[in-house]
Amino acid sequence: MQPQVTVVDHPFIKHKLTLMRRKETSTANFRALLSEISMLLAYEAFRGVRTTLRTIETPLATIDSPVLDGKKLVLVAILRAGLGIVDGMLQIVPNARVGHIGMYRDPKTLQPVEYFYKVPADLSDRDVIVCDPMLATGNSAVAAVTRIKQSKPGPMRFVCLLACPEGLATFHAAHPDVPVFTGAVDERLNDHGYIVPGLGDAGDRLFGTK
Ligand code: URA
Repeated sequence: MQPQVTVVDHPFIKHKLTLMRRKETSTANFRALLSEISMLLAYEAFRGVRTTLRTIETPLATIDSPVLDGKKLVLVAILRAGLGIVDGMLQIVPNARVGHIGMYRDPKTLQPVEYFYKVPADLSDRDVIVCDPMLATGNSAVAAVTRIKQSKPGPMRFVCLLACPEGLATFHAAHPDVPVFTGAVDERLNDHGYIVPGLGDAGDRLFGTK
């Protein structure tokens, strides 16, 4: 299976991402920008989601017209930075269900350790979008998707703000069936597992914890 990566490199995303990368960008602006970019990422990432026909009346005629079935969509935030993407996407699909998966990165091994998992019951007929701003080592993303697959979901997609070649390679090796949507692919991963040039620690910048 050929892994799929879509770089959603629209000028609006490029511009907003530049603002997010700047180290002097405030927490409030960082949060607002992530929410705005997430709505733009949603435009591409949701392109393939299923619609159902609903009978409606226009002023002139009755037609069967497509609608998104928001209840069939599940956004899963990889805690904690994934919450920033989910918040933005919920503005587009307010009826989407939301799952949470808590994973922290062991600072020595850089391996993910799961501490929380709660997703809607019965994922089998639902499109699932897994959200985490940074696809860095790829280890958390791989572990999260592996875990969600145990819940037998419908079609899955992974959405991030920034990826790097190392993270994409790791993710694709484990989950070639899960398409990735990202705002950009940066140069590399450094020895501490950070994306370079990147934007620093997305969780800290989103929640102002540093
Ligand atoms: N997580 C982050 O928040 N930033 C990185 O660069 C890598 C992982």
